[in-house]
Amino acid sequence: IQNPFKEAIPVLELIEEAGFEAYFVGGSVRDHLLGRSIADVDIATSALPEEMKRIFPKTADVGIEHGTILVHHGGNHYEVTTFRSEADYTDFRRPDSVSFIRSLKEDLQRRDFTMNAMAMDKDGQIIDPFAGKEAIDRKMIVTVGNPDERFGEDALRMLRAVRFQSQLSFSIEQQTYESLAANSHLLNNIAVERKLVEFEKLMMGPARVEAIQLLANSGMSQFLPGLKRKNGHLMSFSSHVTSELELAELWVLLLFDLGLSGKEIDSFLREWKLPVQKIKRYIQIHSWLLYRMENDWDLKSIYKAGLDKAISAEKVFGTLHALVNNPEGLIKLFDMLPIKNRQQLVVSGNDVMAWMDKQPGPWLRVTLDEIEQAVIYGKVPNEKEKIKEWLNASNQKSGKN
Ligand code: ATP
Ligand code: MG
Repeated sequence: IQNPFKEAIPVLELIEEAGFEAYFVGGSVRDHLLGRSIADVDIATSALPEEMKRIFPKTADVGIEHGTILVHHGGNHYEVTTFRSEADYTDFRRPDSVSFIRSLKEDLQRRDFTMNAMAMDKDGQIIDPFAGKEAIDRKMIVTVGNPDERFGEDALRMLRAVRFQSQLSFSIEQQTYESLAANSHLLNNIAVERKLVEFEKLMMGPARVEAIQLLANSGMSQFLPGLKRKNGHLMSFSSHVTSELELAELWVLLLFDLGLSGKEIDSFLREWKLPVQKIKRYIQIHSWLLYRMENDWDLKSIYKAGLDKAISAEKVFGTLHALVNNPEGLIKLFDMLPIKNRQQLVVSGNDVMAWMDKQPGPWLRVTLDEIEQAVIYGKVPNEKEKIKEWLNASNQKSGKN
């Protein structure tokens, strides 16, 4: 048994000593059987949240209305959720109400896929009423029970199926796939925020090329923000995606392959409800990509872009032209810059005003820009006295003052 489980065994024991059942459940059990490393373990119990609070002195209510509390124990914290069944889905997303139950099997039954519907006790025994182990051996994603019903209850599960396909390099079982294709329109009922989480996980998975194609072929992409009637573009996107690209670069590549420009880009990223900071960054990288389509990098462009954004733009450029990713040249170029950003310039507006004995005005910005340029190109060292001399000399030459 891997470490995260070992450390959590005392939690299970304490719950059992109080007279309740407790198991590891969900993704951690699946990943354990797959031999993947486990980040955090989820625990399910027959104890009610109130009963849990009596067992553990340190808890936090993170989702108590769904029966989940956070238990602090031995320097770690664990999400512990009361067994529950989810009855009455009326709008294709999340249940109206949850009922707490005392049966593990019923709790496992409400879970999305058979590989996610297993439990493990403190001795490492697997409880597997829906043949999840077999599905894992066959590398198959199969819904627990009838897929039409399960996707009808919560349409997000369809997107989860594709993201697990991408993360685990599994296949979606035939009947589950057909249901997914028939029900993709139900994604209309799902909040963009939840779609975003799955979409980003899907884009980052090792089998992302297939996953993106699957989104298009199944019809699901028709119900994702900004991707309606974009199957051709999505196919090009999938053909350009490489394993080197990180999340930001994938978004930028997607923008490029969708052929979006200007305002369209902004509204596409907003439609996905990405955070403003990321939107800004993706737009900048995208514009440096467009620059790169026409030009080579030079001192000025790499200075303005900054090394990170330049490398990202270059990676996307490389992907589009099937070039080997080699940031060395960019790093060398960036290293040659005497200053890496405006803050490193030793002179300020106040210095320049004092030297020239002039009031602030538009001239100041222009002069500072000239100084910055001269420093970047090595025409003058980034030293106050040297810059002052250079400024005097160039003003005399141009007859200013
Ligand atoms: P990951 O490794 O990405 O966290 P996970 O399987 O743990 O994958 P979570 O979203 O953390 O996925 O959910 C934990 C468990 O809760 C799942 O394994 C599954 O049993 C159940 N679950 C999560 N979302 C749903 C859903 N929409 N419908 C049914 N069961 C779900
Ligand atoms: Mg999880």
